[in-house]
Amino acid sequence: MLDAAASTDVQSRLLYYALGTAINCPYSCSNVPCISKDMGISKDMVTSELELSYIHVMRGWQVLESDILSSGFDIVDFDLAPEPGCRSYESRTQVYHDLNKLFDEAITQKKSATLIEKVRASKAFAKALLEGVTDLREYLEDTQKVHTSLISDDVVQDYKRSCSSLLADLGISFDEAGFNNFMDKYVVHDQEEVRAIILTECNFWQQAIRERINFYDEVRLEITFVSKDEPWQVGLTGNLEAGTKAEINTHSRHRFTKGQCKYLASHEVAGHALQFAARERKISEGKLESYTGIVSIFNPDIAVSEGLAQTVPYFVAEETAFEPSFRVAKRLRELRDILIHNAHLMAETGKDIDECVYYCLSRSPFLTDAEVRTNVLERLESPLLKSYMACYAPWFLLFRQYIARMKGNNKSLNDLLCRLYLDFPLVEDVRRTLA
Ligand SMILES: [Zn+2]
Repeated sequence: MLDAAASTDVQSRLLYYALGTAINCPYSCSNVPCISKDMGISKDMVTSELELSYIHVMRGWQVLESDILSSGFDIVDFDLAPEPGCRSYESRTQVYHDLNKLFDEAITQKKSATLIEKVRASKAFAKALLEGVTDLREYLEDTQKVHTSLISDDVVQDYKRSCSSLLADLGISFDEAGFNNFMDKYVVHDQEEVRAIILTECNFWQQAIRERINFYDEVRLEITFVSKDEPWQVGLTGNLEAGTKAEINTHSRHRFTKGQCKYLASHEVAGHALQFAARERKISEGKLESYTGIVSIFNPDIAVSEGLAQTVPYFVAEETAFEPSFRVAKRLRELRDILIHNAHLMAETGKDIDECVYYCLSRSPFLTDAEVRTNVLERLESPLLKSYMACYAPWFLLFRQYIARMKGNNKSLNDLLCRLYLDFPLVEDVRRTLA
């Protein structure tokens, strides 16, 4: 399918490739302009010693992984905390020790559940790096608030039937030949045209979100296009100095279909980038605790962010109003995420990789052996991807079910959007709301 057939998984690589946060920089928020609307009641935002310790530990861990261990992944994907400072580490054992201490102190001092949630997830990830994942159920619950149960075959068959029916409306069969037809018909070959569609869609989806919530008139969000012969398609970066930047790589090695351009704009820009830009604004105004600006993809708030990003279009409109190529692209992507999620969990419990691949290909002929195999093996091997990638399908389905249940109740839907974009809700609370 269009998204899945791309050499890189746009969605999964988004934050994975979100490098370049400033770690040791003594930030100042004095140059951040005032907003024209008051977005909320100012809280007492004095950063406690424990919160400051969390910020310093995470930055120190980032430096350890990037400069000393050259691990190839980030600990801090966004750094929106204004306080300077960073601890110094020589080993992951030291980091794990400090995170354990922080966790115990946060519990003893009855610190906010959000801080405890973040420290718990970081502690679980540090442990996984040191010892491997010994208890998958506990690991996914601690990092992404995800249960390890398979998504039921009833759900899989529903999504499969829906893909088949939507493709039939376009005159395309849901089989290998149909995949080639689909790509022939919908791939946009001209880079300028790709950029023009994405930009138009970015404006459309952002506007749609802004109309539904009392949003900032302006946030510092910059969208730029590059053409680099590299596997990533979207990079998001953010800090208090530069604001949030979404970099979209339209190099010819990537195939963009029309629907994928729209999907990318709704998910990456109106979903993630807008959310982080709003968070940056609130932190710089002192309306949100600064430690919430330390964003890591193994933390559960990212699971919520992915669920939101995947469902932005459903918050905004009835699915039947979507342009057909977008609608089918989106549904294919959803089926793909569900199948690979199940295949990964099956592989974790000892199922042969070939059987896991067959499980996916027999349910979506728009997937390829290489794509499924690579995704499952990566998740098996990498504690980071094992955690991060496990959040997509379950959290998307939770959001989707909630939106379906709230159909016609725009107030509830808009209230949830407000909380997700403008507050920093406890992940457990969001899960309770959605369940
Ligand atoms: Zn995403």
